[in-house]
Amino acid sequence: VSLERFLTPENARTVVRAWQREGLTVGFVPTMGALHEGHLSLLRACATECDRAVLSIYVNPTQFGPNEDLEAYPRRLDEDCELAERAGANAVFCPTDKLMYPSGYATFVDQTGMTEVLEGLHRPGHFRGVLTVVCKLLNCVPAECAYFGQKDFQQTVVIRRMVADLNMGVEVRVQPTVREPDGLAMSSRNDYLDADQRRDALCLWRALQNVKKRYAAGENAAAAARQAMREVLAQVPQASPDYVDIVDCDTLERVDELTERAVAVLAVRLGGTRLIDNLPMAGDLPPGRAKN
Ligand code: AMP
Repeated sequence: VSLERFLTPENARTVVRAWQREGLTVGFVPTMGALHEGHLSLLRACATECDRAVLSIYVNPTQFGPNEDLEAYPRRLDEDCELAERAGANAVFCPTDKLMYPSGYATFVDQTGMTEVLEGLHRPGHFRGVLTVVCKLLNCVPAECAYFGQKDFQQTVVIRRMVADLNMGVEVRVQPTVREPDGLAMSSRNDYLDADQRRDALCLWRALQNVKKRYAAGENAAAAARQAMREVLAQVPQASPDYVDIVDCDTLERVDELTERAVAVLAVRLGGTRLIDNLPMAGDLPPGRAKN
């Protein structure tokens, strides 16, 4: 059986509904493409846990700010389809901008509170775009389960909130962050880094590990851990942090104490590239998911 391509929302919904009428469960993995092992790990989990696995590849313009990397964002659809098929995808949904946001388009999903901190503070409108497209994609691909990466921790929290608030009825499953052997979290944006920046990018992982080490050693003052993260980053003069924090895994509120609920989060600019990463004290897995 070869990979099916859904070109329109109607096409996607018709096939997904037909599978469901046959009694098959459908899982969905939304992505912006330029697939790497992080995306493929979501897809493999989806293909293992569901009867049918659908991947979407769509570089969503509404989640990019006016001075962000929308044009530069890597696009390689044919290569992605091959990787997706090998990782167990049954279908790929790759809509055009015209289909997703036709002229006259006027509806957006806005969430207050948790979308206004961390990434939201530094990328105004970002989560409005993310939540809108995830809601739209789930209407096109009405799956039982949707898979997201811990790499984009705040995104997983605000998507869970939206799914609950809007009674969307899809089960959100979060998979651990996949890292390069040296610890750098995989990201399509790592493509932008030159050799020096690739080396400097390790400061994110070093800062996160510093917090984890303190936690493991029984030190529980979050303020000292935050300060230590900043000091680790300061050792790389080219690295300019957007934010460095330790927050609660469900509320995103700044914590005073390192507990198993705490997640260290950071966003760092290296030249023109902006990298984000996070590390939950409970392990690189959200609560309630078994380790394999
Ligand atoms: P993106 O294409 O960047 O929008 O990412 C699509 C999905 O893949 C999101 O749910 C991301 O959180 C997830 N993802 C991206 N990078 C990683 C990674 N290194 N490990 C695990 N999941 C990832």
